[in-house]
Amino acid sequence: MEVNVVKKDWRKVDLRFAFVYPNVYRVGMSSFTTQLLYFLLNSREDVACERCFLPYQRNVSPISLESGRGLRDFDVIGFTLQFETDYVNVVDILRRSGIPLYTKDRSERDPLIIAGGPCAWENPEPVSDFFDLFIIGDAEAVLDKFIDVFLEVKKPRENLEVFAEIEGIYVPSLGKHYVKRAWIRKLDDCPHPIAEVIPQVDENSSFAPVFGKSFLLEATRGCSRGCSFCLIGFQNRPMRARSFEFLRKLIDEGPKFSGVNKVSLIGSAVADHPNFEDLCWYVVDSGFELSVPSLRIDGFSESIAETLIKGGQKTVTFAPEAGTFRLRQIVNKPFTDEQILSAISIAKECGIKHVKLYFIVGLPNETEEDLKSITDLIRKIIELGYSARDLHVSITPFIPKPHTPFQWVAQLPLKEIRRRLNFLVSDLRKLGLNYIDYLDPRWAKIQAALSLGDRRLGKLIEYVAEHGNNLGTWRRAQKIFNIDLTRYVDEARSLDKELPWSHIDVGV
Ligand code: SF4
Repeated sequence: MEVNVVKKDWRKVDLRFAFVYPNVYRVGMSSFTTQLLYFLLNSREDVACERCFLPYQRNVSPISLESGRGLRDFDVIGFTLQFETDYVNVVDILRRSGIPLYTKDRSERDPLIIAGGPCAWENPEPVSDFFDLFIIGDAEAVLDKFIDVFLEVKKPRENLEVFAEIEGIYVPSLGKHYVKRAWIRKLDDCPHPIAEVIPQVDENSSFAPVFGKSFLLEATRGCSRGCSFCLIGFQNRPMRARSFEFLRKLIDEGPKFSGVNKVSLIGSAVADHPNFEDLCWYVVDSGFELSVPSLRIDGFSESIAETLIKGGQKTVTFAPEAGTFRLRQIVNKPFTDEQILSAISIAKECGIKHVKLYFIVGLPNETEEDLKSITDLIRKIIELGYSARDLHVSITPFIPKPHTPFQWVAQLPLKEIRRRLNFLVSDLRKLGLNYIDYLDPRWAKIQAALSLGDRRLGKLIEYVAEHGNNLGTWRRAQKIFNIDLTRYVDEARSLDKELPWSHIDVGV
């Protein structure tokens, strides 16, 4: 049961579009992209957009939530690629829907299979044989043009080259061709959903969105900070902010029309919004709960902490990424220990109960000292008055990302990542920390290969989708197809060689 579902009469529209989030309902409905695309597409009278997610049960065919139709009944199926780990789910969904997996095997009777989202612009090559076209950039800059052309062209599949003429569209079956990212300069020029789809379920239900039942408010898009390891900081620049006036109107109306009492601020660099503090106060002074995913170490203030407390948020999240100032400088996140401790001490004094901290292990130039310093930093945080039980440390092995200054750098060998991770985790455990989570380095290798790989990986993805997405299957697939994933990640890429993603221009 959901509110604000749009159901259209298929006989009265020209295009039936299935928006697919290639993960389960809870994950997909936590994403602002789902709300935005559903709203944008259904705003057109000639389009009916219905949502579809990966079914919770294995081997069940995916159906749309609005009309219960299978994906084959739609004209266009649009996937959003938010995480590389969802690639296997894309193939699984196509397979379960009875749609030929490869673009070369589809006919004019099959729906057009398209994709957008950060992974599409990061490096579409590993999944490029499965998609008829990719949208590279902001949906608002491309979607209407794409639909108009689709409705104009009699046989879209036979005329894919027509789509490639639109800025921001990549048609992989034409071979690698240059694509410039299409982007929106002013967010205020783009409409924002007001009546968002909200599941009417208990907060503890496995269908409840991650932020709870809340109005997702996109305050910023992209980030200009340029941390050297971060994809968003290089593929989606500059940071653009909706004006405070625009956001106030949304806060006045959105929660009311969505039937919720909470506002979640969305944006990779949301705390960089020029009116961030005023925005937080406006939410809580309007009587709503507030959720802010992550905060700026250098901009954190008592006033912001107060709004969070008033808005019911019990945890603050900061991302120092590295243990020493030296390494933080190298990755272009030059916060001093004093700045980090000052932000956390403000949180403590203002009554914030829990602190979550993100770190990366295996960054270029990392030394033993950098790892030990993470534990030292946590020790100092405990001395500020937080107990070890109140701290949550999340660790990710470094994954080199396309388009970033680290795109040529090798990932450390598996053994070495494991050694460093074990060292750090056991050091942290000595402090009594209960909440330490980390990504298994074997999965970090697979993720890195899916980020940095090329078209040959399609076969592996297909195999894993058919035989189960687990480490054993990935190992078997590499043997069967004689493709060693470590080749994509353990070797540095040469500066004078073309990279698999060189044809994707994410510049401004
Ligand atoms: S890590 Fe955060 S601040 Fe740095 S570039 Fe990425 S989104 Fe921006």
